[in-house]
Amino acid sequence: PLILGIETSCDETGVGIVRGHTLLADAIASSVEEHARFGGVVPEVASRAHLEAIVPTMRRALDDAGVTLADIDAIAVTAGPGLAGALLVGVAAAKGYALAADKPVYGVNHLAAHVAVDTLEHGPLPEPAIALLVSGGHSSLLLVDNLATGVTPLGATIDDAAGEAFDKVARLLGLPFPGGPPIDREARAGTADAIPFPRGLTAPKDLAAHRFDFSFSGLKTAVARWVEAKQRAGEPVPVPDVAASFQEAVCDVLTSKAIAACRDRGVDTLVLGGGVAANSRLRVLAEQRAAKYGIRVRVPRPKLCTDNGAMVAALGSHLVAAGVAPSRLDLPADSAMPLTIVSV
Ligand code: ATP
Ligand code: MG
Ligand code: FE
Repeated sequence: PLILGIETSCDETGVGIVRGHTLLADAIASSVEEHARFGGVVPEVASRAHLEAIVPTMRRALDDAGVTLADIDAIAVTAGPGLAGALLVGVAAAKGYALAADKPVYGVNHLAAHVAVDTLEHGPLPEPAIALLVSGGHSSLLLVDNLATGVTPLGATIDDAAGEAFDKVARLLGLPFPGGPPIDREARAGTADAIPFPRGLTAPKDLAAHRFDFSFSGLKTAVARWVEAKQRAGEPVPVPDVAASFQEAVCDVLTSKAIAACRDRGVDTLVLGGGVAANSRLRVLAEQRAAKYGIRVRVPRPKLCTDNGAMVAALGSHLVAAGVAPSRLDLPADSAMPLTIVSV
């Protein structure tokens, strides 16, 4: 079947088209530059940008795939979680196209889509798998028993998301928003063990209560204090070393807990998803550490890690193949959709 996916949960307007596990089109329009000067996504600006971009992006995806709306078998759309106004644009568009062309519509979970997108690169996901979902708004470890019907959260951040930490640290280093890509870049010229930043929730007493949880706000504060101390002393801030040491602290904790989860559950597949999975150090460290235990790491190419329409189409395709019933045409957008709900 030919599945079209629409994504508008944050600042990317994405329309993807897949056939089975084959990606045919992945059209994206981003309003990120309009938000950059505010240091974060401005919801009202994002909604307006989606409204302007949704129809042209839809056209571009259909053109790129060389198909028409009539050829599409089902439309999947991000129903949550995300910015309420932004989600509404995508959900309304999906309903409009579905009604006009008489197609079934699937309202899907954006976070499950971040996991499902890997199937476009590496084929069906072996189940059970452990998923490390690390994005701008979320950081979770999930047991994926059945991606079509539900996932089991094993742990999550108790404060900032990993991507949020990258964005905040970038800001205090004077790097542009979003902060992940420039920190990744700066870190290449730095030394990862230059500064011993803290590894949140890894002390024995924390592990007892928070074995698979994360905490990044203490790390962010430690980086801020370290930078302030340098500035007070009138010394230059070694941005590459701070970036590399911060990035190492994040990736160390993420990979060690993800592998501990695999070993705890006897699972030999670890899939990475979400914008932070684009991080070059995270990808290498996960591979290296997993290899020691015979765990296979699956991570999609960086462009598929950040928000896009292809991931929504990938999850839609998986749901259709699994025989999951479509959503009602009056499906709601749910800005706080829980991780455990894959489709509504
Ligand atoms: P959510 O998926 O939780 O709703 P989101 O959709 O805003 O949040 P994504 O687009 O999945 O998040 O990811 C964006 C985040 O990924 C940003 O915080 C960004 O800094 C981070 N990111 C992108 N590329 C990299 C990278 N190379 N290294 C580290 N972080 C990165
Ligand atoms: Mg974005
Ligand atoms: Fe996302």
